[in-house]
Amino acid sequence: MTQKRLHIAIQKSGRLAEKSLDLIRDAGFRLVKSASDLAYSVENAPIDLWCVRDDDIPTFVADGVADLGMVGRNVLAERAAGPNSAPLVELMPLGFGRCRLSIAAPLNFAYAGAKSLSGLRIATTYPNLLEKFLAEQGVDAKIVTMRGAVEVAPRLKLAEVICDLVSTGATLEANGLAPLQTVLESEAVLVRAPRVASEEIERAIQSVTARFRGVIASQGAKYVMMNAPRSALPEISRILPGADAPTVTPLAGRDDVVAVHAVCQESVFWETLEALKGAGASAILVLPIEKMM
Ligand code: ATP
Ligand code: ZN
Repeated sequence: MTQKRLHIAIQKSGRLAEKSLDLIRDAGFRLVKSASDLAYSVENAPIDLWCVRDDDIPTFVADGVADLGMVGRNVLAERAAGPNSAPLVELMPLGFGRCRLSIAAPLNFAYAGAKSLSGLRIATTYPNLLEKFLAEQGVDAKIVTMRGAVEVAPRLKLAEVICDLVSTGATLEANGLAPLQTVLESEAVLVRAPRVASEEIERAIQSVTARFRGVIASQGAKYVMMNAPRSALPEISRILPGADAPTVTPLAGRDDVVAVHAVCQESVFWETLEALKGAGASAILVLPIEKMM
């Protein structure tokens, strides 16, 4: 019997494409591109990747053509807010593609909460999410659904206000717009269909998610080592950012000084090192972590 292969749908090109491939590679999967450019196969595990438009990823997963998908939460939420869509399950956030779906308007717009949107035209490519937001806020406004380039709508007099994805805000600024209110916080997420797959595929999903979690947990995490007076341990534990109880080992021939090792989940800044020194630590080393599980 041939082994069933796990299929993962990822964005073919665009903001999520490279980062999706990076995460899969960092999880130890060696990718070989197919001749068609539309797929990759994994050399060292029974996994194939389909490269598609991000908007099609939920359908691929819902229909069972792919077992997993890597897609923006905004795309999933827009689909879920629409009529008769089969629900999908968000397994984990992936730590990239962060953005917000925001209401934005020309700089001179006087905004005093959602009520200020009453009676206005709002251009968006997210009509379902916008409709839900307006209903929740009890605001009556006209939704102008566009396919893209929403940020030009106010200049073209198609709408007074827009509802669009923002990350740095540079695109809005370049169009004389400013964000007023967040409708949805988004980032890339891993999704699956709710139905139970074959035992083989379920096991593969478990193993892929465990590896992804490991990669994401190790991103930004650092291994910190130092020598410190035993008496300074409480203060040092307090300074170490996002660390569990540190490992404390005796130093040969010293009773008053110990070696302290800790995994820090948050960024370790120069200020942190200075604070550690101030608490009496010496020989401080900060090392990157390659894998974590
Ligand atoms: P496709 O050709 O696959 O349909 P697209 O043009 O719809 O591509 P991209 O612009 O590549 O999509 O964005 C993909 C995802 O990246 C978005 O759905 C969103 O989750 C995320 N993203 C992060 N920052 C931004 C941003 N500033 N603008 C738009 N999307 C962003
Ligand atoms: Zn798209």
